Amino acid sequence: MSVSSDPAPANNRFPTAALQAMDAAHHLHPFTDHKALSAEGSRVIVKAEGSTLTDSEGNRILDGMSGLWCVNVGYGRDRLAEAAYAQMKELPYYNAFFKTTTEPAARLSEKLSEITPEGLERVFFANSGSEAVDTMIRLFRHFWLLEGKPEKQVLIGRMYGYHGSTMAAASLCGMSAMHAQAHLPLPGFEHVMQPDHYHLGLDGESAADFGLRAAKAFEDRILAIGPERVAAVVAEPIQGAGGVIIPPETYFPEVQRICRKHDVLLVADEVICGFGRTGQWWGSDTFGISPDLMTMAKGLSSGYLPISALMVGARVSKTLVEEGGEFFHGFTYSGHPVACAVALENIAIMEEEGLVERAGHEIGPYLQDGLRSLADHRIVGEVRGVGMIGAVELIRDKDGPVFFEPEGDVGTRCRDHCFANGLVMRAVRDVMVIAPPLVATRTEVDQMIDRARRAFDATALDLGL
Ligand code: PMP
Repeated sequence: MSVSSDPAPANNRFPTAALQAMDAAHHLHPFTDHKALSAEGSRVIVKAEGSTLTDSEGNRILDGMSGLWCVNVGYGRDRLAEAAYAQMKELPYYNAFFKTTTEPAARLSEKLSEITPEGLERVFFANSGSEAVDTMIRLFRHFWLLEGKPEKQVLIGRMYGYHGSTMAAASLCGMSAMHAQAHLPLPGFEHVMQPDHYHLGLDGESAADFGLRAAKAFEDRILAIGPERVAAVVAEPIQGAGGVIIPPETYFPEVQRICRKHDVLLVADEVICGFGRTGQWWGSDTFGISPDLMTMAKGLSSGYLPISALMVGARVSKTLVEEGGEFFHGFTYSGHPVACAVALENIAIMEEEGLVERAGHEIGPYLQDGLRSLADHRIVGEVRGVGMIGAVELIRDKDGPVFFEPEGDVGTRCRDHCFANGLVMRAVRDVMVIAPPLVATRTEVDQMIDRARRAFDATALDLGL
């Protein structure tokens, strides 16, 4: 391994091989081929600071993915640990079921209504992005019943959209492998094309024209289903897990116009884009969306504790509150006081350190320049990104472009080379994805770009290119 090595950290009490054996024998990992992983053995991460992970062998690895797009304020924040400790000592748990609340839950509700776009004033708490998405689905179905339109139940998402792994959230995803394995989607879920100009644009079609065509796919589908049956359109501002698909500027204003015209709710899934990732607080700000509902998770606590939220806009909350009637939904840990206390402290850090402004105007543009400097590489096609999220398309030939076949093998190979060079980048098909902590320094960004280039060199060499 060519990454720098420290002696094994003191708090790693078990030898790596013992941990790997326990893990291989008992731990079923998410989104993993268990047979392949058992043969290979897991990498054990033992500590992290800022943007750097340390594994059980003392290797230091730059985390270009903020964990799973979540550690926005970086690792090793004492303030977050202290906020959790203080709240656990004071009140480790109480629920919000029996007309009760807690101070952190009430304060976080108000804070979220203050920092989210105009009109989103009420919040329902959950623990993961998937749960927030399921909550959204339950809530808008209830909403349309209250509105006296019980047939308005169909939800439209997009191909390569990712919204989570529970049955309803996975149905909303546009991921064919997930669907095939679990007999999904459930009834009432439809999908239209993703706004991916690089792969789906026609010869000579401008990004602006393509954006309008991709938006029209929603209108065509709404009309085919019948507007009286379509409840909502759900979209990530940038499709993160689908390969950082960034829509043309023309896309969302048109999607929004279509939704309003047909009385269809518009939901922004901000689980990745929220909390400064795109250089503004919300992807909705970056792409000009005024959503009726908004889901968030990840950056809400910077991943320090599980917490997610569904923000509910005036149109929906007015009916819910005025019409009354119990909403038969919720989780034991909805509004968990410790998670809420950590989220409040996390938002305070983001505000005090100006991390969103930094992502928009300082380190974000610096990262984007660095990524674009990779465009001259032999196996690099389109480079795209905004703020602290970006993607690099790996291609066989720039002329065309010609993509690799079978799709995905080269991406996985390149991801392994990134790891070996001390960098976490994620491969989505043959798209290399990056989303570093918003606190990454210029030196760290330089190192990430340098290591990515070395990984691309090694990948090209493997392929004889
Ligand atoms: N929505 C989006 C946009 C996501 O990216 C994700 C996870 N990557 C989810 C929902 C699901 O979140 P979780 O894994 O916390 O359930």
